[in-house]
Amino acid sequence: MNIHEYQAKSVLRKFGVAVPDGGVAYTADEAEKVAKGLGGPVWVVKAQIHAGGRGKAGGVKVVKSLGDVKKSADGMLGMTLVTHQTGPQGKEVQRIYVEDGCDIARELYLGLLVDRVTSRVTLMASTEGGMEIEEVAAKTPEKIMRLAIDPVMGLQPFHARRLAYGLGLEGDQVRSAVKFLMGMYEAFIQLDASIVEINPLVVTGAGEVVALDAKMNFDDNALYRHKDILELRDESEEDPTELEAAKFDLNYIKLDGNIGCMVNGAGLAMATMDIIKLYGGSPANFLDVGGGASKERVTAAFKLILSDANVEALLVNIFGGIMRCDVIADGIVAAAREISLHVPLVVRLAGTNVERGKAILEDSGLPIIAADDLADAAEKAVKAARESA
Ligand code: ADP
Ligand code: MG
Repeated sequence: MNIHEYQAKSVLRKFGVAVPDGGVAYTADEAEKVAKGLGGPVWVVKAQIHAGGRGKAGGVKVVKSLGDVKKSADGMLGMTLVTHQTGPQGKEVQRIYVEDGCDIARELYLGLLVDRVTSRVTLMASTEGGMEIEEVAAKTPEKIMRLAIDPVMGLQPFHARRLAYGLGLEGDQVRSAVKFLMGMYEAFIQLDASIVEINPLVVTGAGEVVALDAKMNFDDNALYRHKDILELRDESEEDPTELEAAKFDLNYIKLDGNIGCMVNGAGLAMATMDIIKLYGGSPANFLDVGGGASKERVTAAFKLILSDANVEALLVNIFGGIMRCDVIADGIVAAAREISLHVPLVVRLAGTNVERGKAILEDSGLPIIAADDLADAAEKAVKAARESA
């Protein structure tokens, strides 16, 4: 789960991470009120969307009067901000953050994430703040310092000091950087975060080390033990079809192809997507209906897949293990009738009672294309999508 910058800053502040003062606003009047409370003389008005790259897209404005705070807020609220992270459709700005303007001497980068190669929380730091870290990694990888943190020891102050020196910090800056890093790591571990990224981390004219931007992602599987974090969820930032899927416990991820996939088990779903590609097609989604492919879930899954206008054929690939194939076939037939299917449907069933399952599909009178194995199913789905396109 992702949260907004202003939320991440308020979470991090509780762990002793230095952030500028600021407040969230939903209207231009509120923004003005927040700005008055902060006192100025420089404010920054920042669009709150779940995407970076706002600065370059007009979502971060530095202003020097209350009137301009209001004007910027007015311009930003309701606008669709398109950044390189939002995709071409952009994201509508519904909240803004008004923050103290900061006197920036240097912009640095800090990131904490789980590195799958070392299976460790890894701290990344770079002197190239304000730039995309992916770009730094591609062009000047030597400018990124990495530290894989031992899970038993945790981040130690001497690690933090070494990194601070590596960033060219000196004197009191080192002390505030160590406090910053220790707090950031503590927040990451205690809250089961998957990413904490501070880009830029700045050194101010007065020598303080402050987070000017903050991004936090959390491990969905651990959210049950962080009710306060869960409350920060902004559903308007999430994909509506993925939210709908979550209600039915379906693991659905929309992709940009034209063959809708309904599969049980994540591994089989991945294999199905691969084999569709192998036969020259392109999957419209990843969908794992889970172990119990009941009629309700199959119906919900069908509806989800078909709500995507790109879908030109549907491929159902289900292995009847715990759930028997005849029960699944009943579910498919009932669901297909209920939603009056308008695209070709290819079904491949395997497992317990597969013959009975196939008979049910055949006797249903529905225009179902039966497939014998995975390769056959993919080939037929790709062909059907081409013909119906
Ligand atoms: P994004 O990463 O989405 O572009 P940032 O929060 O990183 O948004 O802001 C972009 C740039 O705007 C920063 O690199 C910084 O130069 C400037 N900026 C952001 N917040 C402030 C602030 N409070 N005071 C001064 N400048 C700021
Ligand atoms: Mg940033």
